Amino acid sequence: IFITIEGGEGAGKSTLIELLSNTMVERGISVVTTREPGGIPIAEQIRSVILDRSHVTMDARTEALLYAAARRQHLVERVVPALERGNIVICDRFVDSSLAYQGHARGLGMDEVRAINRFAIQDVMPDLTLYMDVSPEVGLSRIAQAAEREVNRLDLEKYSFHERVREGYLMLLKQYPDRILRINAEQSPEMVLYDVLAAIDHRFAG
Ligand code: C5P
Repeated sequence: IFITIEGGEGAGKSTLIELLSNTMVERGISVVTTREPGGIPIAEQIRSVILDRSHVTMDARTEALLYAAARRQHLVERVVPALERGNIVICDRFVDSSLAYQGHARGLGMDEVRAINRFAIQDVMPDLTLYMDVSPEVGLSRIAQAAEREVNRLDLEKYSFHERVREGYLMLLKQYPDRILRINAEQSPEMVLYDVLAAIDHRFAG
């Protein structure tokens, strides 16, 4: 079973993944948790190229191709082998991140980004995707709190970008209603975990 966790900045993906994997281990389930972009050395190297803030000239299509390349390598090296061993794989971000960030928010177009990702992932898709939905206000203020700093002008620019990211995810929810489930990520971590476990039990019952 392949489960992906999606969401914008400050949605609490990492916290959820930790709580979820602990719960599954307690239940005696073999679970592999991993993240994108990264998860394996080649993809971590690509991640640091993408996220290097000194690369201000990086073109949006270059960025989209690098995400797809990291995704490909991570998929064949880590995700597929774990699925073949019968593990549950929980992955922090997957193709929907590229569709929401590069496709919608950066304006490349979802169809174009979907096309390069189809080349990268072939027909491997998640069985279930949990979209951790927070408003940019809540998400960015959580990050600001964590960093003990005020929301400044840069964050305001970020704000409209993250509005668009959220818009992209909400479009994806409409396009893939059977695969993607919205989780109210403005709740406490415990409530988020409760909703997520209920969703997983419901989806994979029996
Ligand atoms: O998942 P995480 O928060 O670690 O992602 C790292 C950064 O990469 C975030 O700032 C996220 O907004 C960005 N990102 C992106 N496009 C993707 C995936 C992540 O811009 N497809």
